[in-house]
Amino acid sequence: MGGALERSSDGERNGKDRVVSSTAGCYGEMLDACVACGSHEIHLWRTKRSPYADDLSSHEFGIYLCASCGTGFLNPPPSLSWLKSIYQYSGHGLTEPITLSEILAREARFPNSTVDAERMAYNADHLNHAGEKTALDIGSGFGFYTRALRERGYQTISVNPGQYENAVFKEMNGDEPLPILLEDFHDGGPFGVVMMSQVLEHLLEPDRAVQKVASLLVPGGALACAVPNFNSLTVKLIGTRDNACLWVPEHVNYFTVSGLKRLLENNGFKVVKAEQISRIPLYGLLRRLKAKGKLASLIEILISHLQAPFGWVLNLLGIGIYINIYAIKS
Ligand SMILES: [Zn+2]
Repeated sequence: MGGALERSSDGERNGKDRVVSSTAGCYGEMLDACVACGSHEIHLWRTKRSPYADDLSSHEFGIYLCASCGTGFLNPPPSLSWLKSIYQYSGHGLTEPITLSEILAREARFPNSTVDAERMAYNADHLNHAGEKTALDIGSGFGFYTRALRERGYQTISVNPGQYENAVFKEMNGDEPLPILLEDFHDGGPFGVVMMSQVLEHLLEPDRAVQKVASLLVPGGALACAVPNFNSLTVKLIGTRDNACLWVPEHVNYFTVSGLKRLLENNGFKVVKAEQISRIPLYGLLRRLKAKGKLASLIEILISHLQAPFGWVLNLLGIGIYINIYAIKS
């Protein structure tokens, strides 16, 4: 799914598309407050290296932790210019074009995006009491969320900077998203629903993004938001080796339910629903176990049976893999 990026104070100085190969220009300015709740009670938790550097030793990031809401974030954050240079070849993990049929084949085996999109579109629609059947899909990715919203009768606008994702989106939905970042979106709205799936963890200034989203919603309209859970079992078990949440430096913020609630409530929203979603990351697991052939098939069958009870337990304990949160514009 596509990530939109917000402006950093450092970003504009360094130029838009420069590929950075030294530390100069890699980092933004040091933050003195939590990106989610604004608390100044923050401290260094751990460090993690970025894989995208000529000289690996020079691209280490500090992960700071907020003592108040538990949210983590890179500090200093990467500069916007460096993030953009990474997205040129990384593009949310996509390094080459992919076709809709490849995506749909994956979905046929593990219908994750379809299920997530339908659940979030259903919830957002039921919480939207504004009577406005229009939606903005920010970071629209392959197009599953826009498709689900349209199936619920919404007129939609989608924004997403990733070219490869947008090509799949077009195959799925017939039109193309605006190939821009949220900060560059000016014409449109207000909307009854804003969808932000796997976006906020990418944004250098999430509070600015949330303020902007609030300004794009009609009063009573609903924001549906999904982010990785910093309190997840995998982060607890493998710490900074986790790459689902702690994907450095693409993910710059690592939210907890508490932090995300405060971010939204400080910026004009009332949070009305929060839930957790968990799945066993099959492809990552198969890669880690180097499983092929019959062993891989066996693991796949096992996982398909264990998925639901395993996820249920994690979510109950608050250590699920993803957070879904719904908020109403006041
Ligand atoms: Zn905080």
